[in-house]
Amino acid sequence: MAMASAQQITTRILELQATLPSTVTLVAVTKLLPTEVIRIAYAAGVRHFGESRVQEAIAKQTELQDCPDITWHLIGHLQTNKARKAVEHFQWIHSVDSLKLAERLNQVAAELGKRPHSCLQVKMVPDPPKAGFDLAELEAALPTLNQLTHLDLCGLMAIPPQNSRPAEIQQIFEDAKQLADRINQSNFSNLKIHQLSMGMSGDYPLALAAGTTLIRLGTTLFGPRPTP
Ligand SMILES: *Cc1c(COP(=O)(O)O)cnc(C)c1O
Repeated sequence: MAMASAQQITTRILELQATLPSTVTLVAVTKLLPTEVIRIAYAAGVRHFGESRVQEAIAKQTELQDCPDITWHLIGHLQTNKARKAVEHFQWIHSVDSLKLAERLNQVAAELGKRPHSCLQVKMVPDPPKAGFDLAELEAALPTLNQLTHLDLCGLMAIPPQNSRPAEIQQIFEDAKQLADRINQSNFSNLKIHQLSMGMSGDYPLALAAGTTLIRLGTTLFGPRPTP
């Protein structure tokens, strides 16, 4: 697949948006892509953009000050020493992958007077190379997370392991939805999990079937990314 033209990107976005239910937000993933690509998607109506790295996103935000209604989503692993910059520059953080990071984000959010929308990244099946809470860890962390009231802990992000088969992916997405329902039934006052960040280019139809609310798409919209 080749890098997409502006016309192709626009057509892909309009066609996709026409099929998405109103409950689903398209987050266009523009990591490693130039701001020209963001402008093309923006002109096609996209307002939610996902970036993996804080510094790269800040540079793009500086170039895009004429697009102030963009909502920025951090979707990549975040080191605690970049938590402050992340809270300053992103309205959403999908990759809250440890209690330590959540506590640090909560602290800087309090200091900055912000309350970012936050998703807990959860490993629904063991996946050693990936960051995230495993299920037992998450269960144990819930009471503490519930006290982090400077975070709007509103979602789960689930990413299936590399090379998962479709049936496995489907199970992971359905289990994540059930996990969110279970957390909500526990009635933690600060944990109202009504967002599911599930679905990338290779698996978003399965995520839609499972009730995702945030799909994070790069390649499907823009073609292959340049290598870093
Ligand atoms: C890069 C990335 C995406 C987008 O991946 P595509 O396969 O290009 O759609 C989505 N989510 C995360 C966490 C990513 O790092």
